[in-house]
Amino acid sequence: MAIKSRHPETLALHAGWRADESTGAVAVPIYQTTSYQFKSPEHAANLFALKEFGNIYTRIMNPTNAVLEERLAAIEGGVGALTVGSGQAASAFSIQNLARAGDNIVSSTDLYGGTWNLFANTLKDQGIEVRFVDPADPENFRRATDDKTRAYYAETLPNPKLTVFPIAEVAAIGRPLGIPLIVDNTAAPLLARPFDHGAAIVVYSTTKYIGGHGTSIGGVIIDGGNFDWAANPARQPLLNTPDNSYHGAIWTEAVKPLGPIAYIIRARVVLLRDLGAPLAPFNAFQIIQGLETLPLRIAQHCRNAEAVAKFLSERPEVTKVIHPSFATGAAKARAEKYLTGNGGLVGFELAGGREAGAKFIGALQLFYHVANIGDARSLAIHPASTTHSQLSAEDQIATGVSEGYVRLSVGLEHIEDILEDLAQALSA
Ligand code: PLP
Repeated sequence: MAIKSRHPETLALHAGWRADESTGAVAVPIYQTTSYQFKSPEHAANLFALKEFGNIYTRIMNPTNAVLEERLAAIEGGVGALTVGSGQAASAFSIQNLARAGDNIVSSTDLYGGTWNLFANTLKDQGIEVRFVDPADPENFRRATDDKTRAYYAETLPNPKLTVFPIAEVAAIGRPLGIPLIVDNTAAPLLARPFDHGAAIVVYSTTKYIGGHGTSIGGVIIDGGNFDWAANPARQPLLNTPDNSYHGAIWTEAVKPLGPIAYIIRARVVLLRDLGAPLAPFNAFQIIQGLETLPLRIAQHCRNAEAVAKFLSERPEVTKVIHPSFATGAAKARAEKYLTGNGGLVGFELAGGREAGAKFIGALQLFYHVANIGDARSLAIHPASTTHSQLSAEDQIATGVSEGYVRLSVGLEHIEDILEDLAQALSA
């Protein structure tokens, strides 16, 4: 039996798993299997008809992944989770589970570049319109809403803008309208708890801080179980009208006896079944290893990043430091309201613009120059020419990426070594 606790430090080690019943193994086994022996033809038929829950095929579920799902749901305070092959798949599925061609969602402009591309181009090509709004005024979400709006979307601590999103304010606009807020909490695991502020769904790229060691791409969708999908059926047709692929099942009714899990069940048995993109069990194992030490690591990422932000603010080459501790006005109030720590990301601008940025990155020795965040190692990148390069100049500015912006993902090395590398690269 798994240990119950309300503390993330304990849940990260114990939720969802105690020991293997047949061997006593304590570490979560890697169930590297595609399929599962059915007990009888009747058992097989019941599983396929969802009359009984159990393992069918690893595209849809896997026991290693199930431990990670239960653990993440417990830590986040949700009722269920679905792991997928990447953070991108988590973002895409979180929307495709509610919106289809002809529908729209309203999204914050402050997004990771890959999410921006998904929204502005690929979802658009699929007939799902994404209406981008500036989250500085939460009312912008209401203004962009119409009868076809199925969800609101935002990043808690947007990569790389780092201006904290007004979660409660926007969730409160959506709830009476039957519109859930989906929050990408990738840059702030354990530091922000979106469900406590009214978000309905949380997504993560587990590739980042949760895995934490730069080894495995993965993503997860977590259902808060706190949203009444049936209250306004016309608003959420995919969960409230018969699903032809399950003999006319209406998801909000079909799974009612099991709890408030209509959203996350549909994501698994419809989207994962049809579109694929499961998390590989080996990656789930690696991500579980990372998750076990996340509470310790994230605190140290925060401490080191805080010191880096302060150091950069005192350097003459730096014109601006982007970090929640440097926010002012409403942005400062939001950082204080929603975060218990400021995270491991620090942005800054150099007086010499793009050229100075390229020179700085080229001179780094300890920091890796890579397209990732949330690794135990320190990382740096110039978003305008890489992660956000496919955006127009205007869209880059909307996402917080100026020509001279350099993004650091501050790692767990000793702070003296981190600052020494930054100092020599700034002077190069
Ligand atoms: N969300 C955020 C905030 C990210 O920073 C990223 C990747 O950088 C993603 C989602 C996509 O995650 P993945 O690379 O695991 O697909």
